Order: sequence, then structure tokens, then C-alpha cells
Amino acid sequence: MIPYGRQAINQTDIDAVVEVLKSDYLTQGPKVPAFERAVCNYTGVEYAVAVSNATAALHIACLALGVGPNDCVWTSPITFLASANCALYCGATVDFVDVDPATGNMSPNSLAEKLAYAKQQGCLPKVIIPVHLAGHSCDMQRIAELAYAYGVKVIEDASHGIGGSYGGSKLGCCRYSDITVFSFHPVKIITTAEGGMATTKDAALAEKMALLRAHGVVRDKALLTRPDEGDWYYEQQLLGFNYRMTELQAALGCSQMQRLDEFVKCRNQLAERYQQQLHALPLAIVSPLNDSYSARHLYIVRLPSEKRKAVFDNMRQLDIQVHVHYFPVHLQPYYQSLGFKIGDYPNAEQFYSEILTLPLFPGLKDDNIDFICNNLSALLSDN
Ligand SMILES: *Cc1c(COP(=O)(O)O)cnc(C)c1O
Repeated sequence: MIPYGRQAINQTDIDAVVEVLKSDYLTQGPKVPAFERAVCNYTGVEYAVAVSNATAALHIACLALGVGPNDCVWTSPITFLASANCALYCGATVDFVDVDPATGNMSPNSLAEKLAYAKQQGCLPKVIIPVHLAGHSCDMQRIAELAYAYGVKVIEDASHGIGGSYGGSKLGCCRYSDITVFSFHPVKIITTAEGGMATTKDAALAEKMALLRAHGVVRDKALLTRPDEGDWYYEQQLLGFNYRMTELQAALGCSQMQRLDEFVKCRNQLAERYQQQLHALPLAIVSPLNDSYSARHLYIVRLPSEKRKAVFDNMRQLDIQVHVHYFPVHLQPYYQSLGFKIGDYPNAEQFYSEILTLPLFPGLKDDNIDFICNNLSALLSDN
């Protein structure tokens, strides 16, 4: 069986985790800050807050930006559920911006139209969450210009994107956003088993997210609001959560960061091999923007929609774990119960009907790709 994605763990990773198991701290020790520093150094951002998963990172990112009841958050319908659910956790409402049919990323044109209309109606969103599908950066310059013009905050969901860049800057540097979120789930670019991180250039946002990660509890004497009762004393200043990352996860993260560039390079080489074999077939390849370097989390192609299901089923029959990223969030039964309907985001729905994710991960071999492409070619010619 060829999976669609898989982690790459080596002996150095294993040793790093075992070393923590033998140390004094399994949680709240030195590895989490070391992992945060490694991501700051890599992306060129000032602050990073490591958490238990990217869903938690999205949640505290929204809260830190002040999202609450009476607010609205906009994201892309072509994403994992968490990009939208995070707003609902804050009591806010969610709405979606339709995608560019070629990339599946939030369309700046749709965003511009929707913002102009929302302004007229007096219901501008507080935050927008563009998602870098497959690791391919959104058109962040235009999105950031629009957000700035309308006074809207931006969280980049870069769950697919660590190691990539846009306009010469690494994803995560927050040049075009207030906060960027990464996921370290095993199928993503680097892994901590479960894990996520929020990066920002803003010290106050970083401090707020660090508080929200750990029960809203302050221990620093200088920040206490009540008289200090003694060295045992700490105080809860807001309603936070237990979203901490463990030392085991952070040690694995530090170790994986050493190979991040290698992983992304390998993913790009494999994508190049796909491209060479697929370019003549009757399909479209979802590709990164010019002036960007994709982390290549997913290799997505678009087929004629009437053929997609048969091709998917036949590929699965051949033990090739193709996938579909994603079923549009607004069509989920839960979101339908909130009032979203078929036809609300036609480009997203069309994109969804055509897409197929082919396997892509650092352990994939050239002859796996040849096998996948030969079968795909045969299936497209006899259907
Ligand atoms: C994986 C993913 C998430 C959630 O990540 P977790 O770490 O599993 O919580 C959020 N958004 C996108 C786009 C993702 O792919």
C-alpha cells in the first residue's frame, strides 16, 4: 500500500525523545522554548507559542485577536474543519470566501467583493483566515492589502506550509498577517505526533497566547494584580486552557527542524517528477504561485469531475491511497445546520468535484511515482 502521506522518523529523532524520557522534565521544561526558538530562527519571526495541536493554536490565535460573540471570522471552504471551527469555539460566527478555481486558495477577488458588500451592510469580519492549501501560499500581498484597508486582522493557516516561502519570506514570518499557525500532525511537513505553533511579531499577542495556552495563569511576580501571597502563589487572570505541548513532542520537533529543508527539497523533487509524467495527461495540476516556494504538503490534480470517483476507486483498488482535500466545510452536515447551502461557494464546490490528492512524502520512491502515474494515465485514457 502506498499511503498519501507519512512521517519520516530516524534514529536521531528517537534518541531525542528517549533522552527527554530519562530527564527531569516531561512537560514544562527546556525543550518547548528551544523548539519555539528554532521555529523563530527558521522563519525570521519574533515570537512563537507551541501548543498541543494546530486546532488549539487557531483557537488561541482567534481569542488573542479578540474574537468573541458578535464577531465574524471568514475562512476558505476548502480546508480542514479546524480553520472554521476555531471561530465557533469563541462564540463567533463563521463565513467563507470562495476560492480561486485554479489553486483552491482564498480568492482575493472574491474577498474584495465580499468585504465591500460587508462594509455596506455593517458586518465586516474581525479576522480572516486564509489557508495555504497543499503548502502553496495564498496571494498574501493582495489579501493583506485588503485586510488593512478594511481594518480586518489576518491569521494564516499554514498547517501545510512550514518550510515554504512567499515573495522571498518564509511562511510564518508574519509579514502579511498578525499570526501564523503551523500543524505538526504526522502527515504534515514535520511532526511532533500531535502539535502546533502560533507565530507573531507582536509581543502582546504572543504573551496573550502563552497565557491562554496554560489556564490563563500568571506566575511572574511583576505581572501579578493581587498582592503576592508568597512563592506558592500564582493567579488566574483570564480563562485559558491546557493546550501545552509536552517535552517529548518538542524534542521531536527540534530534531525534525534539523531536516525541514531536506524534507521540503525532497517533496519538491518528487513533485517535479510527477509534473514531468503528468503534464501531457488530460488533467490540471494545482501549482504554487510564481515567486513562491511550496512546502508541498499535498500533490493535488484536477480531473474532469465525471471521472474523479471512478479514478479514485480504481487507484484505491491498486493500493494507492489517493485522497481528496477537501470536502467543502460549508457542505458538512453541521455547517448545513447553521444555514449554509449547496451553491453558496460555487468555485469551491466545482474545485472539490475535480480534485484528487496523489501520494507525496519524503519516503516515496521514484518508482512509486512511476507506478502511480502509469496507472493514472491508463485510467484516464480508458474511461
Ligand atoms: C491539519 C490541519 C489543521 C489542524 O491541525 P491539528 O494539528 O491536527 O489540530 C488545521 N488546518 C489545516 C488546513 C490542516 O490541514
